[in-house]
Amino acid sequence: MRAAVFHRSGLPLSIETIDDPQPLPSEMILKVCACGICGTDLHWSEINNAESGWRNINPGAVMGHEFSGEVVEVGKEVSGGWKVGDRVCAMPQIGCGICANCLAGRPHRCSKVLNRASPGHPGAYSEYTRIGAQETFKLPDNISFQEGALVEPLAVGLHAVRRALLKAGDNVLIIGGGPVGLSVALWCKFFGARNIIVSDLVKTRADQAVKFGATAAIDASKEDVLESFSIEAGSHPSVIFDAVGVAGSMQLAIDYAPNYSRVVVVGLCMVSDSFQPAMAVVKEVDISFCFCYDRSDFEMTLDMLAQNRIDTNGLVTKSINLEDFPQAFEDLKKPSDQIKVMLEPF
Ligand SMILES: [Zn+2]
Ligand SMILES: [Zn+2]
Repeated sequence: MRAAVFHRSGLPLSIETIDDPQPLPSEMILKVCACGICGTDLHWSEINNAESGWRNINPGAVMGHEFSGEVVEVGKEVSGGWKVGDRVCAMPQIGCGICANCLAGRPHRCSKVLNRASPGHPGAYSEYTRIGAQETFKLPDNISFQEGALVEPLAVGLHAVRRALLKAGDNVLIIGGGPVGLSVALWCKFFGARNIIVSDLVKTRADQAVKFGATAAIDASKEDVLESFSIEAGSHPSVIFDAVGVAGSMQLAIDYAPNYSRVVVVGLCMVSDSFQPAMAVVKEVDISFCFCYDRSDFEMTLDMLAQNRIDTNGLVTKSINLEDFPQAFEDLKKPSDQIKVMLEPF
């Protein structure tokens, strides 16, 4: 099969023919119909070093973890009635299926987890990929493959909002208008936040958040974020999301945090960073970190998409084929107005 292969930082991905994936008895093979480009992969391919605190990608690896498609092969021991032709999406990790973490719907916590882009397990920047039957979800008929590929980033936002213990009427500041920030905004609206204000150094990015649930946008390159927030919302934020994940963004969230507020770090910073604990201590800020999602986040997202209770219209700003994929991947490393760029290999 063809796939977009990583060789080293600084070098674009290259389209190559690699071995077709073979399913273990408990797995299936998915024909990838849509796979979103994720900011994590963009950072990861640039900051690939042992000090990052994040696992390294090996030369020859294939990334891609926001995908949907069609089942083309079902392993011998797969239960649950899966069959060839099923339209599905899946959690990107494959767990053992029997440990407490897997049973709790958290395969990423499984000690035997198989992560994408690890040796022998190519991700979905490719034509086909392995999926675990336990981590797979049927797409309701009214959900397109593109929407199916949005379930993963939407589940990230849902998990973050759950971690924030968001209450109806909360005033929310989201730092960062990228796909994660937009996903968080969408769920904050869903759960009844009063004001949802997104700040970004690129004004057009902050502005586009208004289409996805934000009530206002702040151009952080020109405005005083807290002052603009107060004018717009009539109060300070009670919850602040760091949806950027670069060195300094967590400190910024703490700077913006009023006394007794909550800071939720959902952006994944892959370099060393420092912050002033005293400021957080004095303010008695509750800081939470979030990573991934669990099964219930995927199920809820799918359900709300199927019921048309969340609107993802406009989140996908570009679709590309495999040939054009490496260039599109490089382009996203520079500031742009793109939100979610989707690979559609077929
Ligand atoms: Zn992602
Ligand atoms: Zn397990």
